[in-house]
Amino acid sequence: MSEIVKERSLNFIEEIVEGDLKSGKHSGRLLTRFPPEPNGYLHIGHAKSICLNFGLAQKYGGGTNLRFDDTNPVTEDTEYVDSIKNDVKWLGFEWTHEMYASDYFDQLFKYAKKLITKGLAYVDEISAEEMARLKGTPNAPGQPSPFRDRSVEENLDIFEGMANGDFAEGSKVLRAKIDMSSSNMLMRDPIIYRIKFANHHRTGNKWCIYPMYDFAHGQSDSIEGITHSVCTLEFVSHRELYDWFLEKLEIFPSKQYEFARLNLTYTIMSKRKLLQLVNENHVNGWDDPRLPTISGMRRRGYTPKSIVDFCDRIGIQKRDNLIDVSLLEFFVREDLNKTSTRVMAVLDPIKVVITNMPDGKVEPCILENNPEEVESGNRIVNFTKEIFIESSDFMEEPPAKYFRLSPGKMVRLKGAYIIQCDEVVKNDDGTIKELHCTYVENSKSGNDESGIKVKGVIHWVSATEALKAEIRIYDRLFKVEDLSNEEGDFKDYINENSLQVVEAFVEPSLKEAKIGNRYQFMRNGYFVPDLDFTSEKLVFNKTVGLKEGFKVG
Ligand code: ATP
Ligand code: MG
Repeated sequence: MSEIVKERSLNFIEEIVEGDLKSGKHSGRLLTRFPPEPNGYLHIGHAKSICLNFGLAQKYGGGTNLRFDDTNPVTEDTEYVDSIKNDVKWLGFEWTHEMYASDYFDQLFKYAKKLITKGLAYVDEISAEEMARLKGTPNAPGQPSPFRDRSVEENLDIFEGMANGDFAEGSKVLRAKIDMSSSNMLMRDPIIYRIKFANHHRTGNKWCIYPMYDFAHGQSDSIEGITHSVCTLEFVSHRELYDWFLEKLEIFPSKQYEFARLNLTYTIMSKRKLLQLVNENHVNGWDDPRLPTISGMRRRGYTPKSIVDFCDRIGIQKRDNLIDVSLLEFFVREDLNKTSTRVMAVLDPIKVVITNMPDGKVEPCILENNPEEVESGNRIVNFTKEIFIESSDFMEEPPAKYFRLSPGKMVRLKGAYIIQCDEVVKNDDGTIKELHCTYVENSKSGNDESGIKVKGVIHWVSATEALKAEIRIYDRLFKVEDLSNEEGDFKDYINENSLQVVEAFVEPSLKEAKIGNRYQFMRNGYFVPDLDFTSEKLVFNKTVGLKEGFKVG
């Protein structure tokens, strides 16, 4: 066992793991797994599970298997398998083995026959309605099916027939023979195999019977020798069944532990609902930057570090809870502040003509790439006679303490000169056409001999050198904070204005931007090139604004 690092207090799963390692259980071996069903893309909730499972192994010197829980042939696809692998790697984790529950179909089939042989499973052929009726209710015990006491030989024979395709879908199921009066409804003879004539993404048409989740999951854990099988709270009542199968099959006793799912404000986390948003074009694909999918967050510009730090900070709970999405944004901002290149972009431009600057004159200005990172160096941005500034940085009739540009007042242009606004030139309709300003020639940043003190510093781009760019700005995908509280269809709460596209002017250096580069558009927020970015058509996503909406305590 590796050294136990103690930085923060242990969560309850770490306590269990430490206890087991100390007592020498499984000879001090630790193996966890992350078991996604490949029926959709991973989301931030999965990231929490990934961080927990891989994190335990990293912390205590164990391993983590990536296991595709692919026992349902109908909803699964290799596109999802590939995206899941990509996302786990992107988050920075390496799995010990890549496994597929479908690789255990032969073994699971044998396990089922073993249960039959032990008199612990039987083929049932009553209708689904009848089965539900006989199951009873939590307050009333169930009744045995008339097929419950078939002989072992007959059960084996029919079960083989099911596997050979002799029977129609829905006509027969294999059930575990447990306890029809158990207080746990799942123990009342659960179905463990059903007939399905479906093509599986890995096993093709080899099988026409497929194991149910409960008959596959624990056994897969056991086959792999998983020591701690961590899952979410909805599986608490499944634990009894999990233990029962492993005990009756006399195989490796993996143990299941449950923690609370992550829920985030203003979004949904269920793959089924995410799939609906994608299929019905409420968003543009699984990697739409508004979605809480890992691929969406990546496209939006979230960093792996910010997601991992967020998961670490929220920790592991035993009760379901709702986390404020602005906490996630806090970690995104924290990381981007350290690592992103500062550039200038004007999102809502107003033209400024520097009247005392000769036509065609180009004045190179030196700007720091990232003041948080000394080695990041500087770049040259040209100052020219015509520039753009943000229209919000000019006010014709400013309130007191307005330190940006207004008639007769001065402001500093970042990295360049102090300018003074001399004249506001209007269009016929009274709107502002452009501002006429003069610059103070000896006030250049880094070499300012003007002696003039100005309070405001604003960003700008050269009107002759700047490039046009499409900027995609995102708002919350849903209008309400907690969707679990709302009645009716979750889609009724979609925010129709969650995507805003604006045309901006950006400094020329951004022509060279590459996917994966991260920028702070000074005073505007953090931005990244979108997957649609080309050097002919510059497209950026706004990752997050600069302002903190959340204080971490
Ligand atoms: P969904 O309900 O979104 O479809 P799922 O639980 O069906 O999710 P799986 O592919 O089965 O998705 O999940 C793989 C692992 O990720 C499981 O161990 C599951 O418990 C965990 N997981 C899924 N959603 C969350 C969440 N919101 N928070 C924490 N862990 C989660
Ligand atoms: Mg699932």
